[in-house]
Amino acid sequence: TTHLAEADPEVAAAIDEELKRQQGTLEMIASENFAPTAVMEAQGSVLTNKYAEGYPGKRYYGGCENVDVIEQLAIDRVKALFGAEFANVQPHSGAQANAAAMFALLDPGDTILGLSLAHGGHLTHGMKINFSGKLYKVVPYEVSPKDFLIDMAEVERLALEHKPKLIVAGWSAYSRQLDFAEFRRIADLVGAYLMVDMAHFAGLVAAGLHPNPVPHADIVTTTTHKTLGGPRGGVILTNRADIAKKVNSAVFPGQQGGPLEHVIAAKAVAFKFAAEPAFRDRQERTLQGARIIAERLLEDDVAASGVSVVNGGTDVHLVLVDLRNSDLDGQQGEDRLHKIGITVNRNAVPFDPRPPMVSSGLRVGTPALATRGFGETEFREVADIIATALKADFDDEVAAGLRTRVAVLADKHPLYPNLTQDDSN
Ligand code: PLP
Repeated sequence: TTHLAEADPEVAAAIDEELKRQQGTLEMIASENFAPTAVMEAQGSVLTNKYAEGYPGKRYYGGCENVDVIEQLAIDRVKALFGAEFANVQPHSGAQANAAAMFALLDPGDTILGLSLAHGGHLTHGMKINFSGKLYKVVPYEVSPKDFLIDMAEVERLALEHKPKLIVAGWSAYSRQLDFAEFRRIADLVGAYLMVDMAHFAGLVAAGLHPNPVPHADIVTTTTHKTLGGPRGGVILTNRADIAKKVNSAVFPGQQGGPLEHVIAAKAVAFKFAAEPAFRDRQERTLQGARIIAERLLEDDVAASGVSVVNGGTDVHLVLVDLRNSDLDGQQGEDRLHKIGITVNRNAVPFDPRPPMVSSGLRVGTPALATRGFGETEFREVADIIATALKADFDDEVAAGLRTRVAVLADKHPLYPNLTQDDSN
């Protein structure tokens, strides 16, 4: 076997640089995390070679005896983790899980009700040029201008008016918990299916720190790489046998060919970890970190620069920084933090006066740092660094000081300490 570094030095060098970037900066993109090395090992295994169209025990290819064991482990573990009767672990990504879920329940032209992208929804919940917006008639619901919370009275009014076949609950940028029982009540009122996309908060659910949508929804989709901390991928869960059958057929042959058994093995490993006490501890630190950051950004010295927090706080793993009253826009905020070694993404806030490419918000997440081992002390320091960076008196000298404080934190909790740059590839 030839080592990647010898076989392809260009790719190997870029991977080495990426390892250095991840190790040397503070990753605060709310949808990112650091997969354990065991997860990466499974994903980098010989399973990448195997075709396995079909499902465990019912394959269209020979030689599936080992991948059957693996896929069944992934299915059984994720069912136990979320208390679901049925699971499909084959979707290649969250977007594909959502496409398959909709393909299973809807016909083109059917109406779906989903949270508007501009108010925190995901592309696959009905954005115009996404498959969901092209195939289905989309009625978006929004947050209330009063409190920036999802307006359930408005969801009910829209549901009664438009009689959707599917209501989607779930978000990519929202900092409070959803009322699944209320979504269920509204869905039942109009005979709609309820789909919950828990991609962002699945890790919190697995740890018992967030309500579980599985008992309320007809179908639940998730990614496996955000708070859940596994490989990039998707999963679909349901408690209904009739829907499970439709989902399996919608994923394969409806949407996909061969499943990625190497990724499914990595999912199985991640689900095992997610059931352990250390995972709950990590999710608790994730939530604690987000609360600490929100509290710091609400203090007077930060408010004086026009910086605030959407919803006035958070119940989840992210904080939405509100820059509508700041001279700093989302792009500039993202750039400032990047300059001092903190990676976040700019994000529109609801009713954003600035255009989406610039925006008036930042989405700041704590999952990756919690995985790195950060606890209360470190998150207080991170919170103060971010607060200082977003204030009006930021200059090169302030930036240099903050960059040093970031480096101290990164050194205190080394990432992938056992991965030398040579065997990162
Ligand atoms: N659903 C939600 C709520 C998301 O936030 C995302 C990704 O950001 C997805 C689905 C899509 O996942 P993927 O990027 O794996 O396609």
